[in-house]
Amino acid sequence: MTRGVKSADAVARRDSVTTGSARRQDLHVPPRMKAWVLDGPGELRLADKPVPTPGAAEVLVRVDAVAICGTDLEVIGHGDPALVQGGTPFNKNFTPGHEYMGTVAALGAGVDEFAVGDRVAVEIHAGCGRCERCREGMYTACLNYGMNYGDHDKGHRANGFTTDGGFAQYAVNHVNTLVHVPESLSDEEATLIVTAGTAMYGLDVIGGLVAGQSVVVIGPGAIGLMVVAVAKALGASPVILIGTRHDRHRLQTGLKLGSDVAVNGQEQDAVQEVVSLTRGRGAHYVFECSGARDAINEAARMVSRGGRICAVAFAKEPVLVDVARLVSNNIYLFGIRGEGRSATRRAAALMAQQRFPAKLLHTHTFPFDEVPGAIRCAAERVENVIKVVVKVQRT
Ligand SMILES: [Zn+2]
Ligand SMILES: [Zn+2]
Repeated sequence: MTRGVKSADAVARRDSVTTGSARRQDLHVPPRMKAWVLDGPGELRLADKPVPTPGAAEVLVRVDAVAICGTDLEVIGHGDPALVQGGTPFNKNFTPGHEYMGTVAALGAGVDEFAVGDRVAVEIHAGCGRCERCREGMYTACLNYGMNYGDHDKGHRANGFTTDGGFAQYAVNHVNTLVHVPESLSDEEATLIVTAGTAMYGLDVIGGLVAGQSVVVIGPGAIGLMVVAVAKALGASPVILIGTRHDRHRLQTGLKLGSDVAVNGQEQDAVQEVVSLTRGRGAHYVFECSGARDAINEAARMVSRGGRICAVAFAKEPVLVDVARLVSNNIYLFGIRGEGRSATRRAAALMAQQRFPAKLLHTHTFPFDEVPGAIRCAAERVENVIKVVVKVQRT
């Protein structure tokens, strides 16, 4: 299967190379662009900036669409986890936004992996490429991320966190952070590739799902729903999604994305449901995607002896965990950050095969000049919102 995907990719690349010169003329790159910049906390302003120039192994992406993520709300409202020039991202002419897709508009030195005119989606992290973790493919946990955060000479970039992101008409990306967008996907759907990549990475980190193993997902946000979709596409059985009474719409969406059962944890005993659906054993894997206070302990009661828990969500404050339960039951606890080991490319392959209807996650659309309205829509969770997408290019 992997081989087939590769060859399809190669064909697409050849096509775009042969039409590249015509497209290059089509993609006239202006010297300046519009970009949203972050002034004080919660203060976004539409500014005029120079279009960035791609360096070696980088491309200039014309941003066509960008999705709003929960982490964008954190960065814009509180600064953390963004860190620009060694400090908060405020009043530094910094452009947030990290879940974008677009069209390659110019190539830096030595780039032949992409051609002008190619549609691409992005990963967030380009690791330094020289530390121990990067060399292992764990570039989202780059060792030059904390110590030399914002030291661009080390090569580390996290667009929308340490360097300018996608709430702009153009952005620069390292080739390692780009993935070709399958022809069948709309721009809006392609912004979700990186979310699917995070789900895929979580499934990698826990040891790699084998078809027939059971997966529980706590928390039906965008990433939780993508874990449901990707796990089902890889053959998980059963897939059990757990939410609250506020999540009715999201639980319904989870069923359409591949969940076998959706449990409202406020109306049913979620632990009992999981235990009975797994014939008293507990699940092979539990993905904690809610950040809720007691969720890790709940996960530990749902997972089988010797099973694995993956913590995906950021809990808002330190929580008490029943470590004795983990130890006495030989339960493994993993944490993941972002989307390492090129998981995004494998997620894009599943989406190209239309293995799940990712577009169900996209619920709201805003034009580029209404980014603050889009942020508000996501923050206030209006009208069953899951993913808000900003269309940067009008089509
Ligand atoms: Zn995100
Ligand atoms: Zn590194």
